[in-house]
Amino acid sequence: MSAQAREDSCDVLIVGGGPAGSSCARVLKRAGLDVLVMDKSEFPRDKVCAGWITPQVVEELSLDVEDYARGRVLQPINSFVTGMGQRANPPVRYDKVVSYGIRRCEFDHYLLERSGARLRLGDTWKSMERDGDRWRVNGGISAALVIGAGGHFCPVARFLGAHLGKEERAISAQEIEFAMSDSQAALCVVSGQQPELYFCEDLKGYGWCFRKGNYLNVGLGREGNHRLAEQVQAFAQGLAAQGRIPADLPGKFKGHAYLLYAHANRPVIGDAVMIIGDAAGLAYTQSGEGIRPAIESGMMAAATALAANRDYSSTRLLSYETSLRARFGERGGAPALSFLPTTLRLSIARALMQTRWFARNVILDRWFLHARVPALGA
Ligand SMILES: Cc1cc2nc3c(=O)[nH]c(=O)nc-3n(C[C@H](O)[C@H](O)[C@H](O)COP(=O)(O)OP(=O)(O)OC[C@H]3O[C@@H](n4cnc5c(N)ncnc54)[C@H](O)[C@@H]3O)c2cc1C
Repeated sequence: MSAQAREDSCDVLIVGGGPAGSSCARVLKRAGLDVLVMDKSEFPRDKVCAGWITPQVVEELSLDVEDYARGRVLQPINSFVTGMGQRANPPVRYDKVVSYGIRRCEFDHYLLERSGARLRLGDTWKSMERDGDRWRVNGGISAALVIGAGGHFCPVARFLGAHLGKEERAISAQEIEFAMSDSQAALCVVSGQQPELYFCEDLKGYGWCFRKGNYLNVGLGREGNHRLAEQVQAFAQGLAAQGRIPADLPGKFKGHAYLLYAHANRPVIGDAVMIIGDAAGLAYTQSGEGIRPAIESGMMAAATALAANRDYSSTRLLSYETSLRARFGERGGAPALSFLPTTLRLSIARALMQTRWFARNVILDRWFLHARVPALGA
């Protein structure tokens, strides 16, 4: 019998075992619900990502950092280099740890196992239809509530009416992550405690090089995918020419897309369905950080489900939409200084971004670290 045909029944089926799905599963499971997580991949699986998280994420997950760091990469960060094009500004230093570097293959696996949910890995969502007041998924799994956590191309989001990829203004990104050889590590001047972020001259994205223990992650993400591969290559070659990263990067860059909060317009609830994480288009607009909103949306969807007290009609789930808006604001909105002509706005922004004050107070503290936004539930 194929895995899809196996009969099963649960209170909540979560489609996708990334940070959104596992965080939601953990809260529901701890409240006593029977939770099943389905993922098309076997875990540990990789996810195209730089793997940077803030201390608020650690707090929201109640992550025991000592336990986590045993046998896994957890790179503390207390400084950043920001720059424009290939030009680096002086580092911005902090007197405490302001971020961590993780590897997604380890992080996502750890969180999914820790959730305590029943798992159906290597099982792809294919269909679902109403069966009385329950859902029948893939013809065999009966669930009172389905939560779509399948990332940018989540099939449950499509089922709810999202036009994936067609009318969406997505970020396209490519990265490579690899364990450095001894000679590469000796030549790499990027420090683990100090990742480097370089904004594109047109301010439509940024590149990064990020050392995590012995692993190096280099990548670039920007609006649209026009000639992305060329821009990624030029970025990596520029860093190598400066001697910042090894020239002999092994393997190919891998790509993925996702939506920024301001640009996304996907339905997030339906009758007995909620959509969380990248599937709902929640990544922070300025930084592209998506792990924290994925976790927070998973926790908010779980709180909504528990408050609904087994009545999962769309009106009872509306409070999830309200919680997203209360936490992340209204979607859309014009860019700062939008009343100015684009060229003038760009030159003002470029000049500002190269000042020390702006790099620290706006780019880092506000856009990247969300230093003044406490962990959810804190
Ligand atoms: C290049 C790049 C760099 C990034 N760097 C960072 C960073 O440093 N920090 C940060 O916070 N964010 C970063 N992000 C964003 C971050 O990766 C995402 O926001 C985050 O992974 C969203 O988590 P999620 O759980 O919603 O989805 P995902 O992590 O994408 O998980 C979705 C899961 O759903 C499963 N799935 C998909 N389809 C199906 C199906 N049909 N059936 C069953 N299962 C399915 C997938 O296998 C996957 O395991 C980056 C993104 C990119 C592209």
